[in-house]
Amino acid sequence: MFILILLNLIIACYLGFLSLSVGSIILYVVFVISIINLILVYLLYSDRNRLKKEINDTYLKSAVLSQDNLHDALTSLYNRRYFDKALNNVIKKAKEYNISFSVLMLDIDHFKKFNDTYGHDTGDKVLKIVANTVQNNIRGNQDMLFRYGGEEFVIITTDDLTGAIKLAEKINKLEFAGAPEKITVSIGIGCYKQGFSGIGVVRIADNNLYKAKEAGRNCYKWE
Ligand code: GH3
Ligand code: MG
Ligand code: MG
Repeated sequence: MFILILLNLIIACYLGFLSLSVGSIILYVVFVISIINLILVYLLYSDRNRLKKEINDTYLKSAVLSQDNLHDALTSLYNRRYFDKALNNVIKKAKEYNISFSVLMLDIDHFKKFNDTYGHDTGDKVLKIVANTVQNNIRGNQDMLFRYGGEEFVIITTDDLTGAIKLAEKINKLEFAGAPEKITVSIGIGCYKQGFSGIGVVRIADNNLYKAKEAGRNCYKWE
């Protein structure tokens, strides 16, 4: 394309020079046409570049989106979007095979105060510590941990109520090493029963989380 523009420029200059020196009107007209041609080629060239940049930008965005679609950027855990999908699938399986599962909603206690005391960056570090610690203490094939949003996490476990209570107890006992002060979490448990929807189970877990907060935090509730 660049060579085409250069060629056009040379022809235009040459024709311009000829039309001036020979004084021919025909050469002058051809000169004007070649100038118009030059402008058109240039416009085509810049339009092609703009289009190429647009394609590059959207391609990059879609690539980044497809990679980051399911993970939370701060903790690298699965995100809320993926939780919704996973819950849908788990509900389907639970209905189909008449099996149990539970949802544990975890919320860091007094995290606003923690941020106010130590700053947002330290808050971010603690979120990562909590995410890693919980992740390292759950079972890979039976429990799935997600960042639900803010300082809230959620676990889907194939456990029934008894198992879910044991898991909550274990999480409540965890120490979040590396945090500048003791970090505690409150936990609400929701158990699936035939006829429940995914949102229904989450709502029960959320209500129980609220009860755990009411009860003084650093504890779990299931009903
Ligand atoms: P409670 O014990 O009742 O849960 O109190 P809390 O302070 O933890 O709850 P509240 O909802 O009042 O505040 C949540 C805080 O979590 C406020 C917000 O700044 C902080 N937070 C949410 N997301 C992030 C984050 O990504 N990074 C940091 N550093 N802080 C966050
Ligand atoms: Mg919260
Ligand atoms: Mg909190």
